[in-house]
Amino acid sequence: MKDRKLLMIPGPIEFTPAVMRAMGMPTASHVAPNFIEVFGQALERLRQVFLCPAGQPFVVAGSGTLAMEMAAANLIEPGDRALVVNTGVFGDRFGVILERFGAEVTQVCAPAIGDAPAIEEVEAVLQSGDFKLMTITHVDTSTAVAADVKSLAALGQQYGVLVVVDGVCAVAGEEMRQEKWGIDLAITASQKAIGVPPGLALIVAGPRAMETYRQRDRPAGSFYADWEQWLPIMEAYEARRPSYFGTPPVNLVWALNVSLAQILAEGIGARFARHQRVSRAVKSAVAALGLEEVPVSPERGAVTLTAPYYPDGVDSALLGHIGSAGVILAGGLHPAIKDRYFRIGHMGAVNESDVMATVGAIETGLILAGCEIEPGTGLAAAQAALAKPA
Ligand code: PMP
Repeated sequence: MKDRKLLMIPGPIEFTPAVMRAMGMPTASHVAPNFIEVFGQALERLRQVFLCPAGQPFVVAGSGTLAMEMAAANLIEPGDRALVVNTGVFGDRFGVILERFGAEVTQVCAPAIGDAPAIEEVEAVLQSGDFKLMTITHVDTSTAVAADVKSLAALGQQYGVLVVVDGVCAVAGEEMRQEKWGIDLAITASQKAIGVPPGLALIVAGPRAMETYRQRDRPAGSFYADWEQWLPIMEAYEARRPSYFGTPPVNLVWALNVSLAQILAEGIGARFARHQRVSRAVKSAVAALGLEEVPVSPERGAVTLTAPYYPDGVDSALLGHIGSAGVILAGGLHPAIKDRYFRIGHMGAVNESDVMATVGAIETGLILAGCEIEPGTGLAAAQAALAKPA
């Protein structure tokens, strides 16, 4: 019997065998020529995956929160104004981080949980003040709401603010075209759609973000997050030269390079399309099972995860039942509705059989929880969605 269950949470996700092999390799010296080559390639590939040919990549040991902190530490100086387009918990978090570095933060919040602020409202706030920077959470993992990054970034450019995208639950899963859309800085973390175990903070900073950093009057208020330390390191690895500031997580960088190569081999457009297909199938199944989603409308919903409310009379015990049927899902995260919904992550290497296994386990779980559903209802809907031509 397999001693493992299918992990379908919004990160960490399941990783490919090639990525896991890289994690298990004997650890090389961080200045070994073969590791320098791998790190250099990973930086080049990161630019391609973020679709930002002129960007400066940063790969640093840490989680997604460090990537958020690096953005704030290097772009904000005390007294700068920042606007946070807030669609959930991770917008709240960005606000707190920006304030920690001295920003005056204005939050433009969604009118309700599961919704996003109207673009006109964001524009009105941008008009009203002299903002240096605006943050957008591409997919807020607490609500499964996807922001309209393309339109918001265009607005940011129009008003001359730096556009910072928290793509932690999005990059390499949701469509994002950093340079074309005018995104000045995008971040992610390794454990999500980019497909590498937790431990890497990943950033691509465009020319305007780098220029803003260069024009700083004072050093960043964090030693570890300061690009002063990291820029020479990234430049050295890309030039295939040894260098050192803080020991890089060698195996994670190796695994990142493997995963980025897999992403580029699939083709970024094909990868976005696969994620959309998988997401449609999961959402069709959820609807067929009569479950409501947290996002208030399909247009607001993310591609990388689905967040259904529990049906009446069911609570988080459902997740135990689904687990006993072989699939691990995540509970709620947004404090206001935490106990009322659950989350299904479907990003990275996810495939059609993962969808069918997950939907099957949800059905079994619902039946074990006492719901009267016809077995196969969700599976039929998922299968029908998957069978539709793209
Ligand atoms: N932003 C978003 C949208 C996230 O989903 C997460 C993690 N769930 C983070 C930031 C923080 O990342 P980490 O947990 O890796 O620090």
